[in-house]
Amino acid sequence: RQVDPGQVEFIQAVTSFMNSIDKLIEDIPQLVYHKVLDRVVEPERVVMFRVPWFDDDGQLQLNRGFRVQMNSAIGPYKGGLRLHPSVNLSILKFLAFEQTFKNSLTGLPMGGGKGGSDFNPKGKSDGEVMRFCQSFMTELSRHIGEDTDVPAGDIGVGGREIGYMFGQYKRMNNKFVGILTGKGMSYGGSYIRPEATGYGLVYLCAAMLEAQGKTYDGKTCLVSGSGNVAQYTTEKLNQMGAKVISMSDSSGVLIDPSGIDEKKLAYVKTLKNVRRGRIAEYAQQYKEATYIPHNGQRDYNPLWEVKADYAFPSATQNEINAKDARNLVANGIQLIGEGANMPTTLEADDIFTDAGVLQAPSKAANAGGVAVSGLEMSQNSGRLQWSAQTVDQQLQGIMKNIYVSIDAAAEKYSTKNNFIDGANIAGFLKVSEAMIAQGYV
Ligand code: NDP
Repeated sequence: RQVDPGQVEFIQAVTSFMNSIDKLIEDIPQLVYHKVLDRVVEPERVVMFRVPWFDDDGQLQLNRGFRVQMNSAIGPYKGGLRLHPSVNLSILKFLAFEQTFKNSLTGLPMGGGKGGSDFNPKGKSDGEVMRFCQSFMTELSRHIGEDTDVPAGDIGVGGREIGYMFGQYKRMNNKFVGILTGKGMSYGGSYIRPEATGYGLVYLCAAMLEAQGKTYDGKTCLVSGSGNVAQYTTEKLNQMGAKVISMSDSSGVLIDPSGIDEKKLAYVKTLKNVRRGRIAEYAQQYKEATYIPHNGQRDYNPLWEVKADYAFPSATQNEINAKDARNLVANGIQLIGEGANMPTTLEADDIFTDAGVLQAPSKAANAGGVAVSGLEMSQNSGRLQWSAQTVDQQLQGIMKNIYVSIDAAAEKYSTKNNFIDGANIAGFLKVSEAMIAQGYV
């Protein structure tokens, strides 16, 4: 059914998913009988609302807020909030759709959702961000709850924004409950949640590499982005003996052939998380690095032209197009570990598959963040806080299990090492079983 003709990203995500699920239909005829595929692409509910807030000059500003409650078959809706000027219904529906199967893969009881706003946090003062977050939560609070829908962070939403939103919810409802994850450690957060997506990505790819008799030791890696996922991917890659030679932001690309080591990464964390500066400043601080400004006329990203063993796109959707994929393959790339959600176009996926490049798709590879969010929910329900070591061990176990399940599903229903098919199928099996069991809702 072509009901959302303008929703390019959502249709892309559904197309990729359906290409995999086609391989299941013969084995599970109930999927057709119960119209599971028709139902699973339709959000259970979408909330859209206006968000008025005052800027520092006392001027009224308006943004649009959203929450897509995609699927609650296996648990309360769960998924991040994105604050970025590009946010629209298509992007949030694609993210909520992907989130449904990702959450299933973690083995934890979480449904899928996603939300956010076209608010641009860049260049805004703390006061402006706080007033926006308070206004956004004033409406969102009616639609969420610890047993209903538990949002988290995503692009543009980190500890600062979660704190402001949590404070507003608490003030409105006079309840201290786990309605958001990614909270600060002093008010119900979980150890390892900030690290979880990046660390989990590196753990999952370690399992994938191990099965091929490979490791990270001495390998050169490309990372894109310089936000939460990029920072902790780089940190864990360094710890596992790899060398990371790139990062980026929306203004440009940074290449440092000598490696972004622990000390330089600490500089990036302060630059991006505290000073909220641009990655260009890194090249002024460290002369061995080269900075290439963004140029909208280019039809490729110079970051993916650099020769490396493994690549970890960790910025945003569709950041690797067909030309980028060809550049990576020509330079002998062996692994694509997707930190960002859907960072590759459908054409790029085909190029990697044809070239035999290992591809760890986002719904499996970046599931560590939501997995630890699930553990944060458990800790909040029990009113306790586990040690960093306990959470990290659980994260490692979950990522290993995800690898085992997507590998098994790929082998059973598709072809060995087709982890895109493996992740779509393994994630969908549990969701579809729960949807059938619960009748037509
Ligand atoms: P952050 O906001 O912390 O960082 C995003 C980074 O990507 C920044 O460097 C940003 O540059 C860059 N970026 C964002 N949009 C664009 C764009 N349109 N073009 C070029 N660069 C861009 O977000 P996260 O690190 O949290 O998220 C990154 C990706 O990982 C997203 O796809 C997200 O959905 C996914 N993800 C995140 C999880 C999490 O736990 N945080 C969990 C699972 C997936 P700039 O600084 O200039 O804005």
